[in-house]
Amino acid sequence: MTSAAMRESDTRSFDPDALREKYRIERDKRIRADGNDQYVEVSGDFSHYVDDPYITPGLTRESITRDVEVVIIGGGFGGMLAAARLQEAGITDFTLIEKGGGFGGTWYWNRYPGASCDIEAYVYLPLLEETGFIPQQKYTNAEETLEYCEVLAQRYGLHEHALLQTQVKKVVWQESSRRWQVTTDRGDVLHARFVIHSNGPLNRPKLPGIKGIDQFKGHTFHTSRWDYAYTGGNTFGGLSQLSDKRVAVIGTGATAVQCVPHLAESAKALYVFQRTPSSIDVRNNQPTDPNWISQQPAGWQKRRQTNFESIMSGAPVKEDLVGDGWTEAFRNLFGSIGELMPSKARLAMWAVQGVFSSKRRERGLRQYLTDRAIQYMGLIQKMEMADFNKMEKVRARADELIADKLTAESLKPYYRQFCKRPCFHDEYLQSFNRDNVTLVDTDGQGVEAFTEKGVVFNGDEYEVDCIIFATGFEVGTDYSRRAGYSIAGVDGLTVSEKWQDGMATFHGLQARGFPNSFFFGPMQSGFTAAFTYALDENSIHAAYIIDQLNKRGVTRVEASEKAEAGWVKTVIQKARLTEDFQKACTPGYYNNEGHVQFQPQNTFYGGGPIEFFALMRKWRRKGKLKGLELRR
Ligand code: NDP
Repeated sequence: MTSAAMRESDTRSFDPDALREKYRIERDKRIRADGNDQYVEVSGDFSHYVDDPYITPGLTRESITRDVEVVIIGGGFGGMLAAARLQEAGITDFTLIEKGGGFGGTWYWNRYPGASCDIEAYVYLPLLEETGFIPQQKYTNAEETLEYCEVLAQRYGLHEHALLQTQVKKVVWQESSRRWQVTTDRGDVLHARFVIHSNGPLNRPKLPGIKGIDQFKGHTFHTSRWDYAYTGGNTFGGLSQLSDKRVAVIGTGATAVQCVPHLAESAKALYVFQRTPSSIDVRNNQPTDPNWISQQPAGWQKRRQTNFESIMSGAPVKEDLVGDGWTEAFRNLFGSIGELMPSKARLAMWAVQGVFSSKRRERGLRQYLTDRAIQYMGLIQKMEMADFNKMEKVRARADELIADKLTAESLKPYYRQFCKRPCFHDEYLQSFNRDNVTLVDTDGQGVEAFTEKGVVFNGDEYEVDCIIFATGFEVGTDYSRRAGYSIAGVDGLTVSEKWQDGMATFHGLQARGFPNSFFFGPMQSGFTAAFTYALDENSIHAAYIIDQLNKRGVTRVEASEKAEAGWVKTVIQKARLTEDFQKACTPGYYNNEGHVQFQPQNTFYGGGPIEFFALMRKWRRKGKLKGLELRR
């Protein structure tokens, strides 16, 4: 934001102190001592919640025993990109293991009505130039995304490398052969030189661990396993079998925001149980202009992705190529960050002043850092004001679109925009104007209990035929629990043991004690809203390392103790920059359910994805594999 715009936004109609206090009150009423433990694991009596509704059960096949160069665990975008980048590096001996019946990962599972991506397709769908695929709209939907996954699978010949409907159970390091033994639920035993773990950060559904969760006698399912046999319809809606049904939805996160309008349209009665409202901004989907896309010069997608990620990181850019709610929000927040960057004119001035060339250099830099610190404090305040302004507009939108004033008030989010995942939707709020839809605002407390007949809040029982859990996915629980398989490294050390007191990795990708392994995930790595971008960068990095090891005759690679400790330190130092922000946030999976202070290393690389992946590129360019212990 320019200084003029900033001055303009300072002519405000809100009281910052009052808003700060309101945010604090709203956060405090949601902080719970049990944090992540408030949820139950979908195992044992609950394991049917993760059954695959999209396959015809009964597949049988012979189990497989073989040696392979690389095992990729997970057939989502991460696994597919890893396979693509390995092939580009000339590595074709790989097996991809996926528990679902097809490719797509999160998109394979999340086919609920209305499911779509609100990061624009030209950024989100990777390798568009390589495949020549043209998304129909700016924001793609679940059906098209799954179709695209199949396009990728065909393009890179993935079917012939894949074991679908197969769940990895154990991954064990065998020092004598310097290979990983990977066993599956179908009796397969693979001996792999390398393993890429791309099991998805949001793959394990969670349920609220509250009284009576196993008592309800009606129908239930989680949004990531939508039961169309019960509801009728498909991912575009038309849930005709709900016309005589009373339905409860638990949760109002990004998933609920997309499926509620379809449920509202079809169900006889819909009760939406809300603990914290999402922020719902304008989406404004548009068809792809064929002229525009056909005129894009080679390399356009990478440039667009970099432009998007730069804006999201607060890095200065000349123009906003994407121009949507995400980039607008970040331009708002980071608009003044350019003020912290040395401009060309300033650099020239320092050069004249001798800042870079004489004894005055140290004094000059000290002065610069002092200036920066002062500016930084100013910037923090400006960012807060920009955030207040934005959220005031989001709250005003609820007033504009919802007829009932009390309901509108309940749907207003009182927290900083990036405390939770921002949502963009043009029909969600209007759903609450319908006579068959009731918002049950639990004022931060959540539903109290389930009974045989329905859901209880504030002593009232809401009788329903069906309960749909839109309660999200495990984040921050034990890695193996989420992955669904155990990993035992050197001397039997498990990842659960290694990371019980917090994550420790080298570049978020490798971990000491787990040689020849790569972990794809956002922790200690570059996190992006367009997660496919990060997965692609991780894939390029892993493929580079494996290729280099092969060229150098290396059979064992492990992060050195020093390099790993150094990286953890860097992550913690960078994370501290956001610690206060996180602590002030309403609880959610972004801030470990409000328990921020305990493990600052369990976070993303705080410098942002552009800085992180530039660091990785530089590391590769040096070609020294610094920080890795290599054995031939
Ligand atoms: P979330 O974790 O974001 O939301 C879970 C919801 O369940 C929250 O509203 C939570 O409330 C609520 N909840 C939990 N326990 C209770 C309870 N006891 N009573 C009432 N409510 C409860 O999961 P989602 O599946 O919605 O989204 C997960 C992620 O998936 C998103 O953050 C996003 O990254 C991705 N996604 C992206 C989409 C897109 O591109 N548009 C669409 C869908 C998902 P509270 O907030 O108080 O914790």
